[in-house]
Amino acid sequence: MVILGAGESGAGAAVLAKAKGFDVFVSDLSSIKPKYKEMLDAHSIRWEEGQHTEADILNADEVIKSPGIPDKAPVIRKLKEQGTHIISEIEFAGRYTESKMICITGSNGKTTTTMLTYHILKQAGIDVGLAGNVGNSLALQVAESPHAVYVIELSSFQLDNMYDFKADIAILLNITPDHLDRYNYEMQNYVDAKLRILQNQTEEDVFIFWNDDPIIAREIAKRNPKATLYPFAETNEKGVKGYTDNKQVKIETSNGTFTMEQDLLALTGTHNLYNSLASGIAAKVVDIHDEKIRASLSDFAGVEHRLEKVARIRGVDYINDSKATNVNSCWYALQSMTTKVVLILGGTDKGNDYSEIEELVKQKARALLFLGVDNNKLHAFFDGKVEKIEDARSMEEAVTKAYKLAEKGDTVLLSPCCASFDLFKSYEDRGDQFKACVRNL
Ligand code: ADP
Repeated sequence: MVILGAGESGAGAAVLAKAKGFDVFVSDLSSIKPKYKEMLDAHSIRWEEGQHTEADILNADEVIKSPGIPDKAPVIRKLKEQGTHIISEIEFAGRYTESKMICITGSNGKTTTTMLTYHILKQAGIDVGLAGNVGNSLALQVAESPHAVYVIELSSFQLDNMYDFKADIAILLNITPDHLDRYNYEMQNYVDAKLRILQNQTEEDVFIFWNDDPIIAREIAKRNPKATLYPFAETNEKGVKGYTDNKQVKIETSNGTFTMEQDLLALTGTHNLYNSLASGIAAKVVDIHDEKIRASLSDFAGVEHRLEKVARIRGVDYINDSKATNVNSCWYALQSMTTKVVLILGGTDKGNDYSEIEELVKQKARALLFLGVDNNKLHAFFDGKVEKIEDARSMEEAVTKAYKLAEKGDTVLLSPCCASFDLFKSYEDRGDQFKACVRNL
């Protein structure tokens, strides 16, 4: 068994494969983190870094590919050409466990909903593991510390290489353009990847989704899923199972009806109402006691870098939404703002269409700060639409300029619409630098 990429998922897959008796070889084109090298060595697993030795790799019966490796990578192309089966770590781990799988995908809100669902189950005393894009590798947990239930965040890249895996409970939050660079700039390719979360589901399974998403609606009509459907929406539209009447959140499942004061939800904003409804439905479906669901939905601490309040300085709030790496998540951030905003945006463009936020920017932005190596596309779109626009080439410059531009009562919002890799190591690094610069003001 060859495993490409030795991060959390690759190293975990290697440990499980070894435990199941495979002859395992791990290959990573960049350097492997010391903790993963130690893990591989401790299990006597052969590995290489800084190269892909094709003689070893192309001979494999099956390859487990880390989600970060794009299909256009030369080694993947060669494997595909010769017809080698390529799977994801989650697909592989799924072969060795009968545990209940609660799987969450969508363009935005995955981590929040995953963490919230995990929080509810954990607080209720369920033996639950957190896996996928967050937490530890599913394969490693299956190999060494199995749980009865897993809450798994699935990106489209993981779903791409899943075939036989089945989600007992699938949550699809929304589908808006993202990562199109990895899908030949074909939206339908990305949509098809997301919909793989439904594959293999039967009448006994559950599919939870946002009812007002036009793409999800279209795909459901086309695919006619077998699972029990739990649509949710902001209002009590026909047929929805989770909604609010503006006072009470209501969820109707075969395990009865759950209600809760909307004001008590820990997470605010419309997008987070959706996330709370999705998590609440999943929790109710696994029959968690209402009191426990209510308590967890109201004491959840939120997730770092997602509309995270950093400080209030001279009457100006500073909010870190560094995880807003696409236009739609920035839309929700802007929509939840009740003040004028100095918006910091920019970075590595993923095929963005800024017209989605144009109206909100015009309504709410006092100023825009473009933070990126190449701000040309942002200028081409926004110049002339907002009075004040400035450029910044570092977080420090952006925060200093934002401080000067903001007026008392405003919010300085970092919600970049873009990936971070032009100036930062990751979105976490970008958010951390933002917080550090704000605290230095
Ligand atoms: P993901 O893991 O899918 O990237 P996160 O929970 O990390 O999602 O949130 C990413 C960004 O999307 C944040 O900026 C957040 O404010 C915004 N967001 C969260 N939930 C939703 C939602 N249901 N719809 C749209 N945007 C959302």
